[in-house]
Amino acid sequence: PQPNPQAGAAVKAADRAHVFHSWSAQELIDPLAVAGAEGAYFWDYDGRRYLDFTSGLVFTNIGYQHPKVVAAIQEQAGRMTTFAPAFAVEARSEAARLIAERTPGDLDKIFFTNGGADAVEHAVRMARLHTGRPKVLSAYRSYHGGTQQAVNLTGDPRRWPSDNGTAGVVHFWAPFLYRSRFYAETEEQECARALQHLEDTIVFEGSGTIAAIILETIPGTAGIMIPPPGYLAGVRALCDQYGIVFVLDEVMAGFGRTGEWFAADLFDVVPDLMTFAKGVNSGYVPLGGVAISGAIAETFATRPYPGGLTYSGHPLACAAAVATLTVMAEEDIVGQAARTGESIIGPALTELAARHPSVGEVRGTGVFWALDLVRDKETREPLVPYNAAGEANAPMAAFGAAAKANGLWPFVNMNRTHVVPPCNVTEAEVKEGLAALDAALTVADEYTE
Ligand code: PLP
Repeated sequence: PQPNPQAGAAVKAADRAHVFHSWSAQELIDPLAVAGAEGAYFWDYDGRRYLDFTSGLVFTNIGYQHPKVVAAIQEQAGRMTTFAPAFAVEARSEAARLIAERTPGDLDKIFFTNGGADAVEHAVRMARLHTGRPKVLSAYRSYHGGTQQAVNLTGDPRRWPSDNGTAGVVHFWAPFLYRSRFYAETEEQECARALQHLEDTIVFEGSGTIAAIILETIPGTAGIMIPPPGYLAGVRALCDQYGIVFVLDEVMAGFGRTGEWFAADLFDVVPDLMTFAKGVNSGYVPLGGVAISGAIAETFATRPYPGGLTYSGHPLACAAAVATLTVMAEEDIVGQAARTGESIIGPALTELAARHPSVGEVRGTGVFWALDLVRDKETREPLVPYNAAGEANAPMAAFGAAAKANGLWPFVNMNRTHVVPPCNVTEAEVKEGLAALDAALTVADEYTE
């Protein structure tokens, strides 16, 4: 692509004058003006190209501008750009059918939303109406979205400014052996103690007051912590025992990211409700939804569901989903994610961890990996404190800047960097990105003890 700094300056000027950005102090940010994107890369107006190890916000599972999906969106736009949700529309019916075909168990009815947060909102509303109970349990170290209920379910600092204590949410600790809250030394101990802690929470909150337990199948933004064997099955059993709706949030982990269609498939667990968004159509057009079990669908068989959205099942978004799911099957993109993780990313990150004093732990699967950066491998003290800002965050800022200087756009959250490229990233692209990551970790190493 030809550099065009003048056009870039105009884009940037209008952005700075008028665009109000998410999660930001508006005058302290400096957004990059992006001129284009293709596959695993994007570029700016100065001709600098970046390998995107973030997949946007972990959503472009098939990369940018897949020609077949772009063509399907154009075709749908030419035929029926939009239509109201109360009608049966081909793109919507077909997207629901293809999604239901892939979701585990009897999650066969699909309620479409505009994204992940509103999927979570509706899942919780369905659970409350189905059980007639008020509370929801969710995990610390989680992210469920930016709307009022979803951000209150979230177990990270983004909740704090919006939490007035009326959301009916109780937080608990999910398992995470590397930073165990249960003084565990093995996965078996971590699993058993985390389940005991969850059951204690249920009993002491009053099991009859709890509508739902919501978990990210594999927590994403909070650090890609793979649950130990038996944990999710244990949560499923507790939900069955106490009549609680089990909600799995697959907004980030779903649609190929883990090397399976859904992360739930890795653990053979079937929730009562499952939320999705992002990878369902690689974010080409906003779309999310809730996959609903037979029992919960039955609750709303003759009683109206009191919720809806103008754009529920928007034809353009659904056509993008149909094309995305078709392309993922045709090109075995889910299998590719599994193979890339197992044979390239996993071994390479383990090798980086052995060489870099700043890498405390590597964990992940498929194209869903985290490096936990530390000051000291022995003490596991994080490279920056929890929720650090400004000077306290200097080591992670320096790491991020070094990656970008080497042509890699990194995912950075607190003391972690995540390796989350598209599911169809090539071996050559992964190797290029890992070389840049290697160089950036040398900068992080300077901040170790
Ligand atoms: N749930 C999870 C697990 C997520 O990772 C996200 C977004 O990152 C959301 C929900 C919210 O999705 P959205 O930003 O589309 O509302």
